Amino acid sequence: MANILIVDDSRTSRKILRGILESAGFTIVAEATNGVEGYDKYVEFRPDIVTMDITMPVLDGLGGLKKIKETYPESKVVMVTAAGQKNKMVEAIQAGADDFIPKPFDSEELVATLKRVIDE
Ligand SMILES: [Mg+2]
Repeated sequence: MANILIVDDSRTSRKILRGILESAGFTIVAEATNGVEGYDKYVEFRPDIVTMDITMPVLDGLGGLKKIKETYPESKVVMVTAAGQKNKMVEAIQAGADDFIPKPFDSEELVATLKRVIDE
């Protein structure tokens, strides 16, 4: 099935995401811990879809999203959001985010969202 790049500065979040996605049959091709590394891994692996955390050091998820979308408009990037990030979500939509997955993760909803975006 699809190849996924996980971008999140939290080791725990990456581990949970990886578990859910691998159980659903996805392949995690790489992980990154900030927007810069996320962009570099995107270029290297060209995954089918990216899960992008918003709050990260060095370059946050909005910065990472913009970098990827500027170079690869056909990329698919789903933002991982926490409560109280409405403004950032608006900015992410404007920057081309394909969808959102809320923390804490709901396995079924998360998998359904990624499948929908991949099939778009
Ligand atoms: Mg974070």
